[in-house]
Amino acid sequence: MDEERNFQPQREQPAHNTHRKKKYKILWDRVIIALVALIALIVGIVMLISALVGAIKGALSKDDSSSAVKANASAISSQQDTPESVQQPTDNTLFTVVIDAGHGGEDVGSTDFSGARYEKEDCLRIAKLVEKHLKDMNVNVIMTRTEDVYVTLDDRCKIANDSKAVIFVSLHRNYFDGEAQGVEVWVHNEKPETDTALAQNILDGLKGVGISADRGVNFGYRGNEYVNYQVNRETNMPSCLVELGFMQDEQDNKLFDDNCDAYAKAIAEAIYKTAKDRELVKNLP
Ligand SMILES: [Zn+2]
Repeated sequence: MDEERNFQPQREQPAHNTHRKKKYKILWDRVIIALVALIALIVGIVMLISALVGAIKGALSKDDSSSAVKANASAISSQQDTPESVQQPTDNTLFTVVIDAGHGGEDVGSTDFSGARYEKEDCLRIAKLVEKHLKDMNVNVIMTRTEDVYVTLDDRCKIANDSKAVIFVSLHRNYFDGEAQGVEVWVHNEKPETDTALAQNILDGLKGVGISADRGVNFGYRGNEYVNYQVNRETNMPSCLVELGFMQDEQDNKLFDDNCDAYAKAIAEAIYKTAKDRELVKNLP
């Protein structure tokens, strides 16, 4: 720029020509640089767009799969007869079971003749042992209670239905004002196949340990086949209610005390066997 100002007027023309030539040369250089830059920019934009398209496609396909999972999940919740589709626990356990220790707190259940032995305590005692044996088999266990507290039947069913468990087992002891002994298991009066198989497996297991009498798998409610125990009626998964001998029967109490752990192991094994045989969970070892 300083050079331009120092040009003499007579030399203006050639100087001007030279200057124009120089100017054109610089311009062409700039055009080439600009073109290269433009090409680089276009290539960059194309790469960026293709990367964005790829990312969007990836995100869309993820949305598709998650909405498919959601659709599947809602299909499961509306279709209770497909327990094999029940979602698996996210930890490394094989599946989830809910163990329900009957009664608790102010609801002591039945008692023995002396009144000193409470059903609620026997229920919790064996429930904890069933839990231990299931955990040894790598099964996730949800307990409706782990201490001497009152839990409503509504809450027990809610715990089960919120749990994604494949099986629900309620543990009780029986009572009769008179002579009665032995073990019986209760199932919904519509006689669902899996529930019945679960009950029979548990009964067979307990018989293997030793019981005073096999009172069989029963349907409905004691004394009324047209109604159901709430824990069988309002749980969404295969379920049964086990009556582990009679509280007023001394032999049943002795059998329960002597075999509590063996009974618990038999119940845990029957639960596992049912989940495997009925394919409630696929590919169980
Ligand atoms: Zn009971």
